[in-house]
Formats: sequence, structure tokens, C-alpha cells
Amino acid sequence: MLKRFFAYYRPHRGLFLLDFSCAVLSGLLELGFPLAVRGFVDYLLPGQDWGLILLASAGLLVVYLLNTGLMSVVTYWGHALGINIETEMRRKAFDHLQKLSFRFYDNQKTGHLVARVTRDLEEVGEVAHHGPEDLFIAVMTFIGAFALMFMVHPQLALITAVIVPLTAWLSAHYGSRMTTTWRAIYSRVGAFNARIEENVGGMRVVQAFANEDHERRLFAEDNARYRSTKLQAYKIMAASTSISYLGMRLTQMVVMIAGSYFVLQGDLSAGGFVGFLLLVGVFFRPVEKINAVLETYPKGIAGFRRYTELLDTEPDIADAPDAVAVSGLKGDIRYEGVSFGYGSEKAVLSNISLTIRAGETVAFVGPSGAGKTTICSLLPRFYEADAGRITIDGIDIRKMTLASLRGQIGIVQQDVFLFAGTLRENIAYGRLGASEDEILEAARRARLDTVIAGLPAGLDTVVGERGVKLSGGQKQRLAIARIFLKNPPILILDEATSALDTETERAIQQSLAELSRGRTTLVIAHRLATIRDADRIVVVDRNGIAEQGRHQDLVAAGGLYRRLHEAQQGGSAQQGAA
Ligand code: ADP
Ligand code: MG
Repeated sequence: MLKRFFAYYRPHRGLFLLDFSCAVLSGLLELGFPLAVRGFVDYLLPGQDWGLILLASAGLLVVYLLNTGLMSVVTYWGHALGINIETEMRRKAFDHLQKLSFRFYDNQKTGHLVARVTRDLEEVGEVAHHGPEDLFIAVMTFIGAFALMFMVHPQLALITAVIVPLTAWLSAHYGSRMTTTWRAIYSRVGAFNARIEENVGGMRVVQAFANEDHERRLFAEDNARYRSTKLQAYKIMAASTSISYLGMRLTQMVVMIAGSYFVLQGDLSAGGFVGFLLLVGVFFRPVEKINAVLETYPKGIAGFRRYTELLDTEPDIADAPDAVAVSGLKGDIRYEGVSFGYGSEKAVLSNISLTIRAGETVAFVGPSGAGKTTICSLLPRFYEADAGRITIDGIDIRKMTLASLRGQIGIVQQDVFLFAGTLRENIAYGRLGASEDEILEAARRARLDTVIAGLPAGLDTVVGERGVKLSGGQKQRLAIARIFLKNPPILILDEATSALDTETERAIQQSLAELSRGRTTLVIAHRLATIRDADRIVVVDRNGIAEQGRHQDLVAAGGLYRRLHEAQQGGSAQQGAA
């Protein structure tokens, strides 16, 4: 995993080297400062030469300016390195999401996926910047400071060395408790994020049931839990900072007493004494740094692990190596012994065979849950058949590239997804880059033009992320306009008008009829009246295809279709009899 992480540094080798060497140099200059003070006190002060003192101060000023430069390089370019890596990872994660199939999304929570691409990677980016250099510098400073202390006065250094590990151990102890607490905080944040997402998404339902108080209570619980976990974290933080503060001051006290003794003994110079005290401060810095590292690392590692997990999820439906791009298909569709199941439960389709001629309109009817939508989902390879094969114009669909296959099929469903943006953008989603005239023509054919004409902003009307400003019928017209623009030879209409009132349905039906002209059409209908005139009706029940034929023949046959037909006719027939 470490190897995989460092692979992301490779394109930024230059930047990393710059950042790293500046950070190391800056660390060395900080180490040198106590020695400079020692020299100042021991050699310059006794000389009482103001010229030299000012000269040395000027030299020190130059060094400080240099260090300022180094630190700003580290702050800016080091973070730039982190964000470059983070951006690259985010691009890859998003790319990968585009490749994963329906089956993957069936089993994922949106909020969690979003978190992977946003928050998780932010934490990885944080480690990508601070990670390697912080650790290196902490170790370098720790060892360097100790070596210098030893050089200045070995006995005093050894005394210090006894106290410091104790503080370091306490720090590490609190650090690891902090890690656990952070993990808890993140899961609390996840919980109330999910709560807010659901609440805002379902606000219409919440208000319709006047359940605001119930929602408030649920949220208050999550919020309180988050608060108490956060307080826990602050408690640990307070304990840990006070301990390391106390540790450092105690060490300085001990050094002061022992140092004074050595100075009085004539064993240590005044400059050495001051320099040593400053070195103790430097010596403690890595301990704090390591605490910070202990805090960011686990988060970053967890984030990186979730990221690689996502990248390692192989798309279960992808282009075969020998796949060809198809275009201009006629639309001769053949299902040959197709079986399919969604998962562990019993197969939804077993051994289905079906031939649909180019230009034919075939209607699928049957009880809800029979598998009508499933049959249609296999054609664009949203799901892959477990057995058997599906061909279009005699070519196995698995031999076609996914993009070209899906380019040949237009789908209108009950729910129309509108992207946040204008009507124009939403129609143009059918064929990106379509001209203004083409968009207007598609809108006209879908009879959306009168709707557009009635809007002050026309095509530039923003429809909002959930399209709340369009009626159900208008949304269907928009979906139809998209397909007119796309102009595919094959059409799937999956209960496109089932959610509409009968009057709107009738109006939309005309547009759908026009859309399906000259295209092979698979239509799933809830209201049988809408598919009476289909070239063929396929009746699907839980055991597969029960019967097929034209309306009149199926009514005459007296099977499942007739029963469904009579059930829907029931109301009006009785009225007629009365
Ligand atoms: P229909 O369109 O005829 O109402 P579907 O094809 O939608 O039926 O569903 C057929 C069966 O497959 C149902 O039992 C349904 O619960 C199940 N099913 C549909 N979609 C999924 C899915 N994404 N994951 C798991 N099971 C599914
Ligand atoms: Mg369905």
C-alpha cells in the first residue's frame, strides 16, 4: 500500500524534492540557532565590540530571512504538492465511478460514495503534503537536537534524555486515544450528514405529515452525540497539551538546576547554558509534531484505503477486448435462452427466447415484479445476462462497445432525471453539442415548444436540480425531446406515462407514437389501453413469457392477458351494464 501511495509522487518528483530539501534545510537552521546564541554569549559579549555584535546580528538576520523564504516555499509548494496528488486521486475516483455498473450502485449509499471522493481524499491530501517530510524532520530534529546537547554537555544531555521519554510516552498514549476519538467523531459526522441529506431530500413528505418535531428530535440526538464525542476529544487534547507543556517546563527546570551546578563548577560556559536551554525547546518540538502526525496519519491511511478499495472494484460490465463500435443498426433484436438473476435469490428470468423484428413495436405486460423492466435492462447491458445471449442485427451485444450499443438505444422511463441547469442543457443531454435549431426541432416534435414559449426565459429557464418547476407531463416531454435529439433506431418505453393522469397520458401518447415511428420499440405499459395497437403483446408472469400475440387474439385465447384486460375494464363494464 505504501508503494502504491508513493507512486502518486512520481509525476511531482521535482516538486517533492524542492519541498523536502527546503524543509530539511529549514530544520537544520533551526537546530543551528541555539549554537549561534552560545557563540554570541561566550565569544562576542566578552569582546565588547559593537561592530562585531552588529555584524553577527546582520548575519543572523540574513539567515532568518533565508529561513523565512524556505518556510514559505514549504508552506506553499508543499501544499501545492498535496493538492496536486489529491486532485489526481479525485479525478481517478470520479472516472472510475463512471465505469461501475448498475449492480454496483444498487448496493451503495450515495452519501458514502460522495464522502469517498470528497472528505476521504481531502485527508489523504493532508497526509500527502505533511506526511513524509514531517516524519523525516521530526526524526532529524530529535536526533540532531540530542546530538548537539550531547556535544554541548554530555552529562546534562543524559539527564534530559531520562525525562523526555516519559513525556514522549505520555504524549503517544494520548495520541492513540485521540485517534480512536477522531474515528468516532467521523462516524458521528457521517450519521448526521445522512440525517440531514434524508431530511432535506424528503422535506415535502416531512411537512406533508407535519412530522417536523419528530425530525427535530432525531436530529437533536445525533447532534448531541456529536457534541459529546467532540467534548471527549477536547478533553484529551487539553490533557495532552498540558502534559507536554508541563513536561517541557519540568525538563527546563531540571536543566536549569543541574546546568547552574555545572556552570558554578566551571564545567559549562554561560553561553553553553543558554544554548542548552534553547536546545531543550527544539528537542521537544518533534514530540508535538509526532502527536500531530499520529492524528493525521490514521485518517489519511483510512481515506487512502477506502480510495484504493473503490479503484479496485472491477467494473463488472466493460468493453470486451475485441469489441467493435456499431452504428446505424436496423434493430433486429433476438433474445436466445436468456437467464438472469439479481443476486442470491431466485432467478428473475430463466431461459427467455424472443425475437423482435426491426421496426416492430412489442409491448410487455404482466403483473408488477414479473421482470418486464429486467428484460429491457439487459438490452443496453445495464445488467449482464447470466446465460444465453442477446443479439442486435445478428451481432452479440457483448461484441459491441458499451458506448456505441447504448448510442443505439433510447430510453424513456417513469421517472425523468433533470440535471441542475437550463431546459436547453437538459434537452441537449440527448446529444451533447446539438445546435440550437436541432434542440428547438426536438422540443417541437416532443410538443415542448408551447411550454417553452410560455416561459419568460424560454430555453434558458433553469429547471432546478430536482426539476420541481416542471409538471410530470412536461418532464416526460423533455425526456422525449432528448430521444428525438438522440435519434436511436431502438426505443425502450418503460411505463413512461404510468404516473400521469389519463388526459395527460393520452396527449403524451401521441408524441410517443411519433417517436416510435420507424424504430424498433419495446414498450412496457401499465394501462393496457395504451398498447392495444402494438404489433405484438408479450405477456410476462413470474414463470417467464406466458403468451404473446395481438390484442384480439390474446383476448380470444382467454389466458392471463384476458384476465388482466377484464380487471382493467371492470369498472367501466359494470357502469355500462347498470
Ligand atoms: P417489472 O418491471 O415487471 O415490474 P422488474 O423487472 O422491475 O419487474 O423486477 C423483477 C424482479 O426483480 C422483482 O422481484 C424485483 O424485486 C427484482 N428486482 C428488480 N430490480 C432489482 C434490483 N436492482 N436489484 C435486485 N432485485 C431487483
Ligand atoms: Mg418495471
